[in-house]
Amino acid sequence: MSFATGLICRECGTTYPSDAHYACEFCFGPLEVSYDLAGAKEAVTRESIAQGPNSIWRYGALLPDPGVAPVDLGAGWTPLRRATRLADVLGVKELWLKDDTRNPTGSFKDRVVSVALSSARRLGYATAACASTGNLATSVAAHAAFIGWPSITIIPADLERSKIAMTAIFGGTVLGVEGSYDDVNRLCIELVAEHGDWAFVNVNIRPYYAEGSKTLAYEIAEQLGWRVPDQVVVPVASGSQLTKVAKGFKEFIELGLIDGPAPVLFGAQATGCSPIATAFANGADVITPQRPNTIARSLAIGNPADGPYVLDELRLHGGDCGSVPDSEILECIRLLAETEGIFAETAGGVTIASLRQMIERGTIDPTKSIVAIISGHGLKTLDAVVDTATVSATIAPSLAAAEDALRFHQLVAAS
Ligand SMILES: *Cc1c(COP(=O)(O)O)cnc(C)c1O
Ligand SMILES: [Zn+2]
Repeated sequence: MSFATGLICRECGTTYPSDAHYACEFCFGPLEVSYDLAGAKEAVTRESIAQGPNSIWRYGALLPDPGVAPVDLGAGWTPLRRATRLADVLGVKELWLKDDTRNPTGSFKDRVVSVALSSARRLGYATAACASTGNLATSVAAHAAFIGWPSITIIPADLERSKIAMTAIFGGTVLGVEGSYDDVNRLCIELVAEHGDWAFVNVNIRPYYAEGSKTLAYEIAEQLGWRVPDQVVVPVASGSQLTKVAKGFKEFIELGLIDGPAPVLFGAQATGCSPIATAFANGADVITPQRPNTIARSLAIGNPADGPYVLDELRLHGGDCGSVPDSEILECIRLLAETEGIFAETAGGVTIASLRQMIERGTIDPTKSIVAIISGHGLKTLDAVVDTATVSATIAPSLAAAEDALRFHQLVAAS
């Protein structure tokens, strides 16, 4: 059973029933799911959670629609691992990586889609759709295939070929738009007006979708032995993940499952699309939209819907937001792979490079514990690395040629 009570406007607090609303009728503010946490306190315990499945649905009581059968391809309960070799390179004491490459379709988006489509099914929808920078489209297409729904996923036409293939393979309709994600999003808002009977997971059922990101916070706390880390670094596109990670930690503290204070959250963006990092650095309240130009396509949202809430969260608790160039993104994909054996997509490079940047400028404390969220698998953005990650040498099939090459690479002693 769920302790969700309905929807609430994040601006004016007007409440709504748990239906297909997504914007406030009075102030047009975004809605979010509200819960009876006082009522949940007795039922939701460390023990009751630990008895749940090894997926996000172990936290079903704190999600909107666990129902009898949630749409569960197995999202979540991904490894949280101590990263000692990377910690040494970065000069930090306690570093953990939340390895969300290990999700059914290789990104954290499986969390939000699993929740969104479970709610969509309860609300009576039978078609899944989305506006996507790539990973969301893949996850929506996969989950829709899993429950036999048609899907319409809408992406920028020039996305990475691997991401397009990973989406199209599930057999839904994939529309490539000649434009940026922000053009795609605008189009989807128009489409919702025409096709209100389609569940656009991140538009007309966005309040439910967003809740899936809370499970990152829940898992981090549980996997650390019911303890909060001091600092968490979160990649930022629309800003939904960061604001809901904050919500997840706050709910766990309110439920008495962990002791506060909540961790300080830090954002991570690519300089080629850093509207939130820029507003934060300038002390601005208003986010100036940016036309994206970066290899981190999954984070390339120039006009982020949750931007103002991310700024509030960072400012309220002494956070910061990194902004890193493409060269450092590539360097840090390699650094993560070489030190920890994790191959991340470009967003993972953004997270690690931003972590390094914020340690260098002193906003992240290297003596306190840190969790970095690695949100997508490297196979999704192979294009970014194929030119530099290649064979060490091409040789004739002979022992002499092999020995020559190994000598050149100083793997055997020179004779
Ligand atoms: C979508 C995405 C994010 C963050 O998305 P938000 O819109 O900020 O919630 C982070 N990493 C990857 C790999 C993504 O696909
Ligand atoms: Zn309102």
